[in-house]
Amino acid sequence: MLSLPLLLLLCVGSRGFPAISEPQEQDGDLDIVQKYLENYYHLKNEGKQIERQKGKGQVVEKLKEMQEFFGLKVTGKPDAATLKVMKQPRCGVPDVAQFVLTDGNPRWEKTHLTYRIENYTPDLPRADVDEAIEKAFQLWSNVTPLTFTKVFAGEADIMISFVSGDHRDNSPFDGPGGNLAHAFQPGPRIGGDAHFDEDETWTSNFRNYNLFRVAAHEFGHSLGLSHSTDIGALMYPSYFFSGEVQLNQDDISGIQTIYGPSANPSQPSGPQTPRVCDSKLTFDAVTTLRGEVMFFKDRFYMRVNSLYPEAELNFISVFWPRLPNGLEAAYEVAERDEVRFFKGNKYWAVQGQDVLPGYPKDIHRAFGFPATVKSINAAVSEEDTGKTYFFVANKYWRYDELKRSMDAGYPKMIAHDFPGIGNKVDAVFKKDGFFYFFHGTRQYKFDPKTKRVLTLRKANSWFNCREN
Ligand code: ZN
Ligand code: CA
Ligand code: ZN
Repeated sequence: MLSLPLLLLLCVGSRGFPAISEPQEQDGDLDIVQKYLENYYHLKNEGKQIERQKGKGQVVEKLKEMQEFFGLKVTGKPDAATLKVMKQPRCGVPDVAQFVLTDGNPRWEKTHLTYRIENYTPDLPRADVDEAIEKAFQLWSNVTPLTFTKVFAGEADIMISFVSGDHRDNSPFDGPGGNLAHAFQPGPRIGGDAHFDEDETWTSNFRNYNLFRVAAHEFGHSLGLSHSTDIGALMYPSYFFSGEVQLNQDDISGIQTIYGPSANPSQPSGPQTPRVCDSKLTFDAVTTLRGEVMFFKDRFYMRVNSLYPEAELNFISVFWPRLPNGLEAAYEVAERDEVRFFKGNKYWAVQGQDVLPGYPKDIHRAFGFPATVKSINAAVSEEDTGKTYFFVANKYWRYDELKRSMDAGYPKMIAHDFPGIGNKVDAVFKKDGFFYFFHGTRQYKFDPKTKRVLTLRKANSWFNCREN
C-alpha cells in the first residue's frame, strides 16, 4: 500500500479516480530526482546537475537506467510516472551494485546463521518485534537449507538495530518516509546487518510501516539478494503492503540460486506475477471504469497507460485495500458511477476509489440467483437498456438494473444466444457497442445486433505488446 499522502497525490485525476493522472511538477521535484539518483543509482553529488545538464549527460543516463529498472517508458526525463515511483517509500539499498565485484555473488559459506536484536523500537511491544523478525527469517528458511538462531549477546552474523539519521555507516537515514531500512550483503563485521529507520512508525498491521514486511525484504539482502524488477516480489525496492507477506516465485528462485532448495520434501512455491505481454495471459475479470478498461488477474490490475510502454501493472490493494484478490467478475453501472466486483457468493460496490459502505453483500439476496449458483464467471451491463448479463458456467442470466430484478425466462444457454464464443466466459466488458468476451488466451469481439463474432484476438491485445 502506498502511503496516504502519496495516494491522494495520485488521485488528482478525473472525478477523483486515480486515472492516468499527470501530477504537476512541483517545487522540490528536481531535488527529489537528484537525491533519488544519488542514493539509489550512484549519481555523483556535484551540485544540481539536473538544472545544469538539461537533457544530456549523466543525469539522463541515470534516469534512463532507473526507468528501465521500474519498467517505465524510457524517456530520460523526470516525467510524471518517474516522479510517482521516486516518491514511493522504499528500501535504502541501491538498485545497482555499488562496485563491480571481482567475481561470484556474496553468500554465507555456512547454513546455520545467528541473529541478534540489538535494540527495540518503542513503536511496538517487544514481543511483536520478536515475532516480526522471527517470521521474516522463517520465510527464507522455509525454502532454503538455512537456519536462523537468535542470540542475546556477542556478535551475531545478522545484527538488527533501530537507528535514525547518520548512524556511522555512510548510509544515513532521512527522517520519516523515503528511505525505510537497509541491510548489508553477507560478509564479516557489518556484513549481513539490518538497520531500520527509527524515525518511521513501525507497526504489526496495515498502517505504515509493517515491520514484518520490511524485515522480510531486508533479510533478503542480508542473505545476498539484490533488488528485483518484479513488482510482486518481496525484493522489489518500493514498499507495498497488501496484507499478506509471502515470498514470490521470483524471490524463491533467487535465494535457491544461491543456497539451493530446502531439504523439506514438499517444496514450497510462491505466486507468480503475471506479465502483461505473456501470450498465455488470461484474465479473472475485466471492466470499464470511468472511461478506462481495467483488467484483473490474481492480486493485480492492469490497464493501458501512456506512462508505461506496454501496460501498467500494480496491486489491486493499492487502489482498493478492502477488495479481495482473485476477483471473478466485474461490471460498471455507468449511470450510477458504480463498479461491482464479484468473488464467490459475495460482491462489493465501489465508486472511484471508495468501496461503498455495507459491502460485501450476498449475490443471492441482492440479485435473486438460485442457491445452485456459487459464483459468477463474468458480468457486463448495457448502459442503454439497463440490462446486466451474468455468465455462470454454460448459462447466462439477465438482470434489470432499474426494476432491480432478474428477467423472466433465464438462465439461457450462452452458446445459443452468443454463437461463436464457446460455452464459457472468463471475463467480458462492453465498449462502443461491442461485447468483448474472454476465454483462456482468446478474446472475441461480438456484435450484439447481428449476433456475430467480428474478430478473434489474443486476450492481452489491448496492451501495447509487440506480438499482438
Ligand atoms: Zn532493498
Ligand atoms: Ca526514513
Ligand atoms: Zn545503516
